[in-house]
Amino acid sequence: MKRIAQISYHTSPVAALGGRVSGGMNVYVLELSRELARMGHEVDIFTRREGDTEPVQELGPRLRLVQVDAGPAQPVEKEDLPAHMGDFVRNAREFATREQHGYDIVHSHYWQSARAGVHLARGLGAPHVTMFHTLGEVKNRARISEHEPRSRIVHERNAARRADAIITASEHERTILTRHYGADETRMHTIPCGIDLELFHPRDRDTARATIGVAAGTPLLLWVGRLEKLKGVDILIQALAEVETPGASLLIVGGDAGAAGLKEELLQQAHDAGVADRVRFEGAVPHDRLPTYYAAADVCVVPSYYESFGLVAVESLACGTPVVASRVGGLISTVTDGVNGYLIPWRCPGPFAEKLDVLLNNAELRANFSRAGRRSVERFRWRNVAVAVSNLYDRIEVSRRADENEAAYDAFGKEALESALLAGGSA
Ligand code: UDP
Repeated sequence: MKRIAQISYHTSPVAALGGRVSGGMNVYVLELSRELARMGHEVDIFTRREGDTEPVQELGPRLRLVQVDAGPAQPVEKEDLPAHMGDFVRNAREFATREQHGYDIVHSHYWQSARAGVHLARGLGAPHVTMFHTLGEVKNRARISEHEPRSRIVHERNAARRADAIITASEHERTILTRHYGADETRMHTIPCGIDLELFHPRDRDTARATIGVAAGTPLLLWVGRLEKLKGVDILIQALAEVETPGASLLIVGGDAGAAGLKEELLQQAHDAGVADRVRFEGAVPHDRLPTYYAAADVCVVPSYYESFGLVAVESLACGTPVVASRVGGLISTVTDGVNGYLIPWRCPGPFAEKLDVLLNNAELRANFSRAGRRSVERFRWRNVAVAVSNLYDRIEVSRRADENEAAYDAFGKEALESALLAGGSA
């Protein structure tokens, strides 16, 4: 069993979900760590301290949250975070020294943590595994969000080239890393994300609707996520205006104060399109209450410009609700067109509206997709993910030891050669 340092520098894995920066990655870090700890590993999750809380919190047996002082103990804009990186790495190392133990693996998440991970792993003499979750190049190519700074791409490239291993959530992400970042194919390992199948399971639709206040007969579309432009909610609102099913309504789950500007824009768009009375903004909803929303909906829509994996689609399928999604990134491997939902190759409203009408008007088709959907996601159990990640940690340690032995052997060979020459022998 190993001592593992998970690095989540820019956002805490226990932060409320659905804000501008807290979503799939937070879920991933926490759930993976929980499962690794259940397997017997000792896991410390390092994050930047954001409030007046105890620096070290026990999250469960063998699982701790280590909040490291770096910059002000309050939320900091993403753009200002790199300035505190040095303090974070230094203080994290000091923590390890104070505790008098090292780590067998440093596993970082997202480019800012990957950057910290490079230095921390070197300082601790441990192998570095990284996972990007999103990539600056992909965001820039989607041309929809704010332009990602050049420095992000440079740090991503550096981490991609120096990490002992990179975990990608999908084959698509792997291709991007090879093509645009020059990552070494042999160091990349595709391990899909996981979901909690005990939490996300089919439930009674009428009860779910009564709980969240939606009338039984309403044709209901659902969107869930971090409210940011890359998620394509604008496409969905326009699609709703083109849907022909009478009374079709849209529930938008996610978004905190940080997303107020985008919410205003979307509200305005809904007004202009004449559908404002059929769009309800629910705000962020705690993760464990989401199954009720998935169960209440007829269809969950994921119109993102890009998703490296797309947990929301899988959660919805696990709850038996079909998904209509963009044909991008990880969604290609979780949504099977015509089996558990539809994949839309064009990121424009018309084709979305067309498939949404098909599903909203055909209860039998929805029921078929629902059964197939649940079956299709059984493979995404957290346990499976954690076992795959744990096996990868083992392999890296073994190959590192082999590299070290080789280096030691080379050094020995060189020494033997030099002493033979000194003694006047021939090599
Ligand atoms: N989420 C949540 N409450 C919300 C909005 C989102 O718990 O109000 C969770 C959602 O259940 C999912 C995650 O945030 O697990 C979003 O992950 P996804 O991979 O879909 O998107 P990402 O945030 O990685 O871009």
